[in-house]
Amino acid sequence: MNNSNLDNQNNSRRSFLKNSILTTASFALADLSMFAMSPFGTEMEKPEIPWFKRITRWGQVNITEKDPSMYDIAWWRKYWKRTQTQGIIINAGGIVAYYPTKVPFHRPAQFLNGIDLFGDLCRAAHEDGLAVFARMDSSRAHEELYKAHPDWFTMNEEGKPYKADDLFITCVNGPYYNEHLPAVMREISQLYHPEGFTDNSWSGLGRDSICYCMNCQKSFKSISGHEIPRKKNWDDQIYREWIKWNYDRRIEIWEMNNKVTKAAGGENCIWSGMNSAFITEQGKTFRDFKEICKRADIIMLDDQARRNSTGFQFNAMTGKLIHGILGWDKLIPESMAMYQAHTPWFRLASKPEPEARMWMINGISGGIQPWWHIVGASHEDRRMYHSAEAIFNWHKDNEEFLINRLPVASVGVVWSQENSDFYGRDEAEYLVDKSFQGITQALTRSRIPFVPVHANDIARESQKLSLLILPNLAVMSKDQVESVRKFVNNGGSIIATGETSLFNEWGVKQKDFALADIFGAHVIEVSQNQDNKPVAKFANGAYHTYLRLAHEMRKNVDGPSNGTEPAISGIRHSIFKGFEETDIIPYGGLLNPLKTDESAEVLMTFVPQFPVYPPETAWMREPKTNIPGLILNTKFQNSRIAFIPADIDRQFDLFNLPDHANLLSNIVKWAANDSLPVTVDGPGLIDCNLYQQEGRLILHLVNLTSAGTWRAPIDELISIGPLRIKVKLIPDVAGKNLQLLVSGQKLAGVVNNGWCQFEIKSILDHEVIVIS
Ligand SMILES: [Zn+2]
Repeated sequence: MNNSNLDNQNNSRRSFLKNSILTTASFALADLSMFAMSPFGTEMEKPEIPWFKRITRWGQVNITEKDPSMYDIAWWRKYWKRTQTQGIIINAGGIVAYYPTKVPFHRPAQFLNGIDLFGDLCRAAHEDGLAVFARMDSSRAHEELYKAHPDWFTMNEEGKPYKADDLFITCVNGPYYNEHLPAVMREISQLYHPEGFTDNSWSGLGRDSICYCMNCQKSFKSISGHEIPRKKNWDDQIYREWIKWNYDRRIEIWEMNNKVTKAAGGENCIWSGMNSAFITEQGKTFRDFKEICKRADIIMLDDQARRNSTGFQFNAMTGKLIHGILGWDKLIPESMAMYQAHTPWFRLASKPEPEARMWMINGISGGIQPWWHIVGASHEDRRMYHSAEAIFNWHKDNEEFLINRLPVASVGVVWSQENSDFYGRDEAEYLVDKSFQGITQALTRSRIPFVPVHANDIARESQKLSLLILPNLAVMSKDQVESVRKFVNNGGSIIATGETSLFNEWGVKQKDFALADIFGAHVIEVSQNQDNKPVAKFANGAYHTYLRLAHEMRKNVDGPSNGTEPAISGIRHSIFKGFEETDIIPYGGLLNPLKTDESAEVLMTFVPQFPVYPPETAWMREPKTNIPGLILNTKFQNSRIAFIPADIDRQFDLFNLPDHANLLSNIVKWAANDSLPVTVDGPGLIDCNLYQQEGRLILHLVNLTSAGTWRAPIDELISIGPLRIKVKLIPDVAGKNLQLLVSGQKLAGVVNNGWCQFEIKSILDHEVIVIS
């Protein structure tokens, strides 16, 4: 928040109310103190919403060094208009300059030949009413600069510079960041007045390489009193402090760059470096997402395409996750490749249009703003020019429903970057990401709206939620543990998996779960290799493990007897609905024994590993153990507590077995206890996100059925329907009038007991239902 804006607040408020741009009647959701003066010269007197809260459709030609002489600006101006693009990102400086620069050693792009490409584009954009983000790349520079200023660059333990191909990697602690880049940004600002600055790669050397340059050595010594660690060692406190010191420096850079650009270009001339959608990736590059979001006016997200491992739905999840720490009144444009990105990359080939479309749509459904991204200004595969047009035009027509809204969900999935860093360490993708993705994928599959919740925000967010899910949230601070405890004491329900709360903030394993009393389960010391119990942390391909469901029903079942004693015949818990014809489910992990409290009801037990090959050996050596795989703690009157030591969330992400997802879904539905705000009946894979604005609910359904059938990319969409939908109404929404923003239909809702019911005939890609 910029305090100087507060002075403008009262003046701004009146004209804001008249302003048609955001007349969604949802302005109460916005942080009114953010409104500032317009950056555009002629309108300086008119207070209005700053550009970074107003520009919702972005575009970018990522300029190659060959482009300057052949950039057809007139054609692109028409393209901006065709796609309703409101802001563009233009390569300006950093590794190379796209304008005639006077900053020493700021090297012009190879084929620039004196052309002022950045200037020409910036002027054209401003003439057309577009905002401009000047794009920098701070990460590396050429040999000439290295030779002149070797102390501006990173250095390994042997005193050799870190390099990427023939470029040299710059050091975040040296004059390159403190003096050279600010000089470049000041020059660009003074010459061209871009609205703001962004940076492709601003956070310097990643975690896997330690810089030993003089500036780093001096800084770390003065702050910590120690020498920079000689090697990576997560068990070494000095190494852990080195991690924190690196994080702090990136935040300093964020603040310093904003100071520089605002001093040069005015209060609204912000700097916002690009960020990754992957928390583990943010950790590896020392970008503390929560601290960044506290300081950011807009998040420029770089996540260009879906991956087979996470699907389109990852984009909506990312939007909700970032809004959770950024606020829902700010914007998150995301760079979306119109060319073939990932597995494999073809920068010059068009991404199939349905693939590009679904990535854009799914992001929009999670509160992300679209930003078409093309590499190079002239293409022989012209199909990529057409991919953004329809969605961008639809976005313009329906923008008021797509921003400034709050999510409606009763389920929160808790995450923290510290868990990735200090528990995940070098295996965070496996230990942390897979558990988080497994549970969020299971929720999407079950059409259960959810919001990611940062572990520090539990107290704030939990007031709106009835269930918190802690997917292997191993690292928890004392405050985080206390906020969970408070949530439970107030009647909230908990699902926790794996090693949740077993590690302190630095990733040091504790004697027992900090939440042991909530789980009704305690760690017991087991010596390694005792009885051949967990010998490896996770089963490998040569062994298989299972989970046994409590209350087997061997009487009157259709199947041969196996000669064992008659098992308990009884009614199974509702979480085993759909599992009537099995007493076991596949697992895939290993488990240690636990001590359980009297109030704990063990509903699944572990079946230890036995061989897969040869088939003759594939029989259970130990069919029954008392090692818990799933515990319900019945101690709490109003709260429903499920602790799942068996990490079926991670197993689902690893193996995609429906048993894991269905069981997770059943446990969530039981724990959420009738609090879910929407049900959708009918076949298909559908991502459901529900929002509210004043006087209306907005349900965004994205049809992922086509994507669910094989792997990226898709080139054909398959429609689904009819779908029978029920949405729980909120106080100021009557539920009678339904407006469908994609098909254009108007429907009448049937209102019954506080629920609105209706049917949708078919959905090809997506549908947005506005309920009022
Ligand atoms: Zn350094």
